[in-house]
Amino acid sequence: MELFIIIIFFLFGLVFGSFFNVVGYRLPKEESIVNPPSHCPSCNKRLTPLELIPVLSYLIQRGKCRNCKTKIGLFYPIFELITGILFAITYIMFGLNVDLFISLIFVSSLIIIFISDYQTMIIPDEIIIFAILAKVIYALVSSDISLIGILLNGLIAASLMLLLKKFGDKAFKRESMGGGDIKLLFVFGMYLGFELAIITIFLSSFIALPYSLYILNKNKEHVVPYGPFLAIAALLLYLSKVDFMSIVTMLS
Ligand SMILES: [Zn+2]
Repeated sequence: MELFIIIIFFLFGLVFGSFFNVVGYRLPKEESIVNPPSHCPSCNKRLTPLELIPVLSYLIQRGKCRNCKTKIGLFYPIFELITGILFAITYIMFGLNVDLFISLIFVSSLIIIFISDYQTMIIPDEIIIFAILAKVIYALVSSDISLIGILLNGLIAASLMLLLKKFGDKAFKRESMGGGDIKLLFVFGMYLGFELAIITIFLSSFIALPYSLYILNKNKEHVVPYGPFLAIAALLLYLSKVDFMSIVTMLS
């Protein structure tokens, strides 16, 4: 039974991942999420229901549009799979309750922010506001969390990030990070507590360093978005709470 529910969450994640690809790509461009329906970006042919099935459709179409043969990026099925796996792990961590719901919102926000910042260099305000509101409502209905506490945590984390940005701008004589990164730290503070949120700053810089050096070495003018690395760091810290041994026992 338990394994069955885990699989259901994994499949849910695949479908949501497919949706997050659309949201992450369209939201920063102020495009509607539902209209036009999913289409090939190259020939504009509308996707059939079969072509909308996460991951499988990519395999069936052998990674190409069936109409114009344009290659479909591996990015899409990979993010569907990642979302599926993260949804399943989140269920295993929390079971069916309100904590599961709020954690799925956090994980989903991170995935969308990764996709949109990576593809368009923008962290959509809509996602930040959604994540903040969800946690505020959660604090209002839950007796274990204080609303002032989580807002203070967000404020401390975002203030430190703003301070680092001021230093960074001066040191590099150019914009060291965007306003979206500071807002994102507010969300991290609310969800992870300010201590872990501050650790995400250091962890993300550590992860971003080799990639940035590689990119800047190829093209000095290139700007590397910071949001995806912040999202990875937050996910790693979030996953560090997972008891992986219990998953092994559960699955065997
Ligand atoms: Zn096409």
